[in-house]
Amino acid sequence: MNRKEKILEILKEKKEISVKELSRIFNVSEMTIYRDIRELEKEGEIKRKHGAVLLNEKENTESLLVDTCPICDKPITRAYPYRITVENYKVIEACCEHCGFLLHSKYEDKKVSAITYDFITENPISAINAWYVVGSSAVACCSPSVIPFASKSDAEKFQKGFGGEVMDFINAYNTIVNNMNISIKSCCQPQSVSFKIDEMKKG
Ligand SMILES: [Zn+2]
Ligand SMILES: [Zn+2]
Repeated sequence: MNRKEKILEILKEKKEISVKELSRIFNVSEMTIYRDIRELEKEGEIKRKHGAVLLNEKENTESLLVDTCPICDKPITRAYPYRITVENYKVIEACCEHCGFLLHSKYEDKKVSAITYDFITENPISAINAWYVVGSSAVACCSPSVIPFASKSDAEKFQKGFGGEVMDFINAYNTIVNNMNISIKSCCQPQSVSFKIDEMKKG
């Protein structure tokens, strides 16, 4: 492995590092490291930010895709997942609003805020102020699906096309949390092979 490859290996583990640290690790001058960095930058492998070296965005998104939802274990593939912040510091992501609400319910006794993204515009919205279409035929992720909108009228337009019910945060939250108390796993299951086999056995 040459030095450039080793730098990439280090970045995969540490996420970011300074040129100074790299020069210490390889026992070469900072100028030498800069030369490697510049080449890696041209190759699109890395980028520099505030004096630190980090892997380029595309690498970062790839590693984000490996994250799984703490509720249903599905990989989080959405570019803008449902994101809750507990007690102003701990950030947890869920695969969708459905699982996001279930996450909330786990932290009911704590101070929780949440951000989601309008289904159409992808603009960030406070989850508490958003409108939701619950149980429409458009199952974006987990079922019953919960689809967020910044405005009530957009939610209603969507509901005309795809069914379901338009709800504010509290109603949508209660619907999902009460519904899911019955059977968390079966509702949340992605359409995996094992799930289909179970269904066939039942039928
Ligand atoms: Zn989930
Ligand atoms: Zn989901």
